[in-house]
Order: sequence, then structure tokens, then C-alpha cells
Amino acid sequence: MNTYFRILRFGRPYGRYAIPYFVCIIFHTIFNTLMFSMLIPIIDIMFNADGMVETVTTAPEFALSSDYFKALLNYGLYRVAGAGYSVKDILVALAVVTVIIVLLSNTFRYFAQRILENLRIHTLQQIRDEMFDRVIRLQVGYFSNERKGDIISKITADVQVVQFCITSTFQVFFKEPFLLIGYFWLLISISFHLTLFTIAVLPVIALFIGYIVKRLRRSATEGQESFGEMVSLLDESLGAIKTVKGYNATGYIEQKFRNLDGRYSDIMRSIAKRQQLASPMSEFLGVASLSFILVYGGNMILGGELGAAEFITYLGAFSQVTRPARAIADAFGSINQGIAAGERVLEMMDTPPTITDKPEARTLTEFRDTIEFRHVRFAYEDKQVLNDVSFTIPKGQTVALVGPSGGGKSTISDLIPRFYDPAEGTVLIDGIDLRDYAVESVRAHMGIVAQETILFNDTIEENIRMGNNTATLEEVMEAARVANAYDFIMETENGFQTNIGDRGMKLSGGQRQRLSIARAVLRNPDILILDEATSALDTESERLVQESLSSLLKGRTSLVIAHRLSTIQHADKIIVVESGRIAEQGTHAELMAREGIYHKLIEMQQLAE
Ligand code: ADP
Repeated sequence: MNTYFRILRFGRPYGRYAIPYFVCIIFHTIFNTLMFSMLIPIIDIMFNADGMVETVTTAPEFALSSDYFKALLNYGLYRVAGAGYSVKDILVALAVVTVIIVLLSNTFRYFAQRILENLRIHTLQQIRDEMFDRVIRLQVGYFSNERKGDIISKITADVQVVQFCITSTFQVFFKEPFLLIGYFWLLISISFHLTLFTIAVLPVIALFIGYIVKRLRRSATEGQESFGEMVSLLDESLGAIKTVKGYNATGYIEQKFRNLDGRYSDIMRSIAKRQQLASPMSEFLGVASLSFILVYGGNMILGGELGAAEFITYLGAFSQVTRPARAIADAFGSINQGIAAGERVLEMMDTPPTITDKPEARTLTEFRDTIEFRHVRFAYEDKQVLNDVSFTIPKGQTVALVGPSGGGKSTISDLIPRFYDPAEGTVLIDGIDLRDYAVESVRAHMGIVAQETILFNDTIEENIRMGNNTATLEEVMEAARVANAYDFIMETENGFQTNIGDRGMKLSGGQRQRLSIARAVLRNPDILILDEATSALDTESERLVQESLSSLLKGRTSLVIAHRLSTIQHADKIIVVESGRIAEQGTHAELMAREGIYHKLIEMQQLAE
């Protein structure tokens, strides 16, 4: 229940939707009921023409009865055509009135639908926005690969289901009951007796539909999960399209997709089977119950208790009663389905970020002195990765991390912007624990140039800015110049306004790197974290990238993860990380003299080149 009310909150403000919707529905109900009651005079006139023409010279007194409408019609005709109107005139008048009523009824229905649709879209937008806001604030560690697909499918697919909670609630409370009341009013005003009999039949239909709906819900949940898996695969394979093609793995990935798609389709088929069964079955049941009424009501006609026109109208109205009844049952089903999806969605929204600011967190206004790792131990879940790591980076110096892959270099660099917190020990900036600062104030001093240069499907300018709206275009251009990117940017079709495509696919590896360097230059951070690219660049781009990196590093405090040892020989300190420990540290000359691991790594790389 709690979930339900929380979901409902996404539809706020309700006043904007509920009141106009309610007004439209009331008018729709009135005209819709009137439309059916028009059958009585129309049929009457066919079988009993003389009974209809009854000159009425004074306006009849209002009453909710067919006699009143009959008198009103005659009075209207008398006013328009005078006393001498014929049966044909009545027929024309009835037709005109019916057309007007149908038009009004449908106009109001149209507006009601439109309001509901607006509410639906509004809710969806609210939920998606809020989900994205919450998720993007979660710590880096939350976004493991298997979670990514799940997150995407929650924000895209589950939300679609959650919205039904709100739209169906509107239907259940503001629409269908009134239509039901309208039809029942018509039924009762024709024959109270017969209606008692009818009421006994309806619950049977409702129960049956309820059963089908419950089965549907179970399959729907399975369907959503299966859809999530498919989205994951799509994300993985499209994101790594080059690897897929390069390894000639299209067959493999196709097979995987086929399997998932097949399973999803099977579930959808079984859902459709039940869904489609609901309508013919309930119609069958409806008509079956109609035949009971036919026998019962037929006897009433024979006994003179009921007129033929009334009875036909009664049957017409009765055939409509099942629709709102069915809609209510359906709506309860959808609400339940929405709650199930809502639980998945809310669970994700409720995940508390583990990396948060303390209430009395201080702001890092200026980086003055050192970054220090003091006996840091770290584990990904239960995988021990760093063990007793201690070192310092004095302000203005460049410290390089080297060592075999998987040793823990990236993990060390992730601890500085506080993507993760150490399990034991502390990371300190200017002697104060990182956890005592406001996270954003720390990150504001940092620039990160990652190995995977992350570019967005946007213009070059926006990719360099990355949310920095205060910089002028000149500053953006200057940053591009420093990063050796200006020339190639100007050669693209629209210069800084060129869109670089999904993940920067339209650029070369070196160009992408220089763009992400320009991004860091524009930010002008005190502290720079640099994960050197492993991918081999051609000599010319390598030179350009190296050049731009040296301009970037100048005068900054930096931590460089080095893959090519040649580039970091001039670092102030080189730290060799192996199996989560610091094996050696010192300058290039000191480490070479030691003839330890670093020496061996250098020799190995020279052999390779
Ligand atoms: P390096 O940068 O030296 O190659 P990393 O810091 O990336 O090393 O990784 C150190 C170890 O931690 C590796 O064994 C790697 O498999 C593991 N690891 C890295 N990231 C994660 C993660 N998000 N979850 C679990 N294990 C991880």
C-alpha cells in the first residue's frame, strides 16, 4: 500500500488533471446515457407512431423520466413547426437530437482521454527524471556491468508499467463508476424488477475477468525481467561493436540475442493469449447472461409489465454495463502490475549512496600541500585489492604508478576523487581525511583523463565544456590549442559545432584523447589524475598527445598511471605497484640503480620495442 501511495505522488499536482477530467467524465456520462435512452422514442415511433405525436403547448416540468423527454421533444417541435407537425418531423428531430448528443458525449470523452494522456506523460517524465537523478548520484561502485542493463530497463521499461498505477487509479475512481451509475440509472428507470435480476449476473463476469488478470500479472513481471536482459545485451554489443565485428563474433552475439528475444516473445505470446481471451470470453458470458434476461424480460413483456421499446433499450444498456465493470477489473489488475514494477523502481531509488558528505563536512577551498595515502587497504566486495599502501604526492609534483596489470593502479587512482572509500587506513588531502570534506569540493580541484576517453553524442564544444557553462568560447578554443586539438577541430565540417557521434565514433583514438585533454585543460584543475592510454597510436598522434599532456601537467600535482615507461622517466617519483602492494618507489635513476622490478620492467619493454 505504501508503494502505491508513493507512486501516486509522481502524478502531482493532481488538481490540474483530476478536476477537469472529472468534469468531462460527468458530462460524457450524462450524454452517453441520454444517447441510449434515445432508443426508446425512436423504436416507439416505429411501432407506435400515433402514441408519439402529442402536441404539447407549454414547457413540461423537469423530471428524470422518459415522459419528460418525450414531452420536451413534442414541445420543441410545436415551437419550431407549429401544431401541424407530422410523425416524419418527429423522426427527423430525433435524429438531429441523437447526433447532437453523440457529438457532445464523444467530445467530452475526447477531452477526458486527452487529460488522462497528459497525466500519463507527465507522470512518466517525473518518474524518469527522479530515477535518473537518484541513480546518477550513487557511488561508482554501484554501476557494475550486470547492474547497467538492469538500470536501463528500469528507467525505460518498468516506468511504462508504473504509470498504469496512476492512470488506472483515475479510471477506477473518476470514470467507470459514473458510467456504471449512468447505465444503472437507465436500467432501473426502465425496470427495477429486471435490474435486480441483472445485478446477480454481473459479479460472475467480474470474477472471471479478475482471474485472468491475476495470471497476466505474473507473466508481465517475467516479461519485464526478460526485456531487461535483452537491453543489457543490446547495450553490451552495441557499445563494443568493434570488438564484435573484429572477432567475427556477429554470429555468436546474434545467437545470444535470438535466444533472449525468443524467450521474451514466448512470454509476450502467452500474455497476448490470455489478454485476447479476456474479451471474447467476457463477451460470451455477457451475451449468455443476456439470454437469461431475454427469457425473463420476454415473459414480462408478454405479461404486459414492460414495453418492447423499453426492453430493447434495456438490452442495449445492459450490453454496455459489462464494459465499465470489466474496465474496473482491468484497472485493478494494472494497478497491481504497476505496484510490482514500482517496487523494482523504488528499490533502486531508495538505494542510499554510500559515499555521502558528513553533516559538518568542510569545503576544500584550496589545495596547499600534499595528497597522502596512509596504510590504505581496499577490497571490491570480498576481493582484496590494496594492502597497506602508503605514499605521498607533494604539491606540484608528478607521481607515476607502474606495474603489472591488475596490480591495483586504477584502484589507487579511484580513491583520490573518492569514487570509493578505503576499507582501512586513510587518504588525506593537506592532512585532513578525504571523508571529512564535501565530495564535490574535492572533485572540483581534480581533472581526470581516463584511459577510455568518454565523449558524449554532442558537439565538440559541449564535449570540451562538459557542463562548464561559465567558460567563454575563446577559453574553450584556447584549451583546444593547448591540447593540440585546435587544428583537427577546425578541419571538421562545423568546427567546434561538429557533432562527434555516439561515444565519439567519428574521431580517431588520438583525437579523442586530445579532446579529453582539452576538457581537463579547460577545467584547469590543481590535481590531475591521468590514466595513460594503452592503445597504440601512430607516431604522429603519439607525439601530439604527449605534447599536449606535458602542457597539461605543467605546474600541476599529478598522479599518472603509466603503461609506457618511457613517458614517465622524468616523474618526481615512480611507484611500482604489484599485487596491491607498493613494491618499490623512487626516481627513475634510483629505481634503475636498485635493479629490482622496475629495472626488469624497463628491460622487458625495451625488448618488446
Ligand atoms: P590495474 O589498474 O593495476 O590494472 P586495477 O586497480 O584495475 O589494476 O585492478 C586491481 C584488481 O581489482 C584486479 O584484480 C581487478 O580484477 C580488480 N577489480 C578492478 N575493478 C573491480 C571492480 N569494480 N569489481 C571487482 N574487482 C575489480
